[in-house]
Amino acid sequence: SVEFREVVKRYGDHPVLKGINLSIAPGEVVAILGPSGSGKSTLIRLINQLESLNGGEILIDGKPTGKLTGTALRQLRSRVGFVFQQFNLYAHLTASQNISLALEHVHGWKAPQAQERALTLLDKVGMVEKAEHYPAELSGGQQQRVAIARALASSPQIILFDEPTSALDPEMIGEVLQVMKALAHSGITMIVVTHEMQFAREIADRVVFIDGGQILETAPPEQFFRHPEHPRARQFLQKVL
Ligand code: ATP
Ligand code: MG
Repeated sequence: SVEFREVVKRYGDHPVLKGINLSIAPGEVVAILGPSGSGKSTLIRLINQLESLNGGEILIDGKPTGKLTGTALRQLRSRVGFVFQQFNLYAHLTASQNISLALEHVHGWKAPQAQERALTLLDKVGMVEKAEHYPAELSGGQQQRVAIARALASSPQIILFDEPTSALDPEMIGEVLQVMKALAHSGITMIVVTHEMQFAREIADRVVFIDGGQILETAPPEQFFRHPEHPRARQFLQKVL
């Protein structure tokens, strides 16, 4: 589970998150929606400490995470995977090395086991044939599937996605959403910042609408898309649907 308690984040004097309270249950799939600049990325980046918070606390499985460094931070990040908009694969490593490297160097796996795990994960995202290819030899959709496989390498309980399809050409969005859809039914907790309304509607257990650094509405997708309650949510949906 992930719990935000009165979480505040500022950049300098500029408040970006203004007291976030949010509880996400184990296995839940949550879509974070909201306009550009509303604080969506900041919200999920706080969970695995890509950003540090200025107030309140975040609990994972009921335990306050605090400010972590070194081994403790690496442990947190192995329990909480992150998939970026821009894939962030290592350009000088093949698809399988992108996955096996962290297993070897961070988790102490032996090379053959790490390699085997990489292939299993690549198979899961339909990329095993491209295991020895470098990122530059892969399409955006393929790179993102490798990035998802990499995020799964340490068997995280929670996986965070920051607009995983928004850097992709339209014809590649489907293949990535397909992988995410399969994952959503696997019991992992997923928190997905997305502009894919159809995906949010079909896959999410719950939609969280954020604007101006505040959660303005949280509801099951059917309810949110049919009858958004907050005027800003209605306005937002009129623009994007
Ligand atoms: P988008 O949909 O465009 O990705 P977002 O909802 O993810 O937007 P954030 O990236 O969380 O929004 O940014 C929220 C606010 O914080 C914005 O006003 C942004 O300009 C500001 N901000 C984000 N990162 C930084 C930073 N490193 N330094 C200063 N301000 C920042
Ligand atoms: Mg963002």
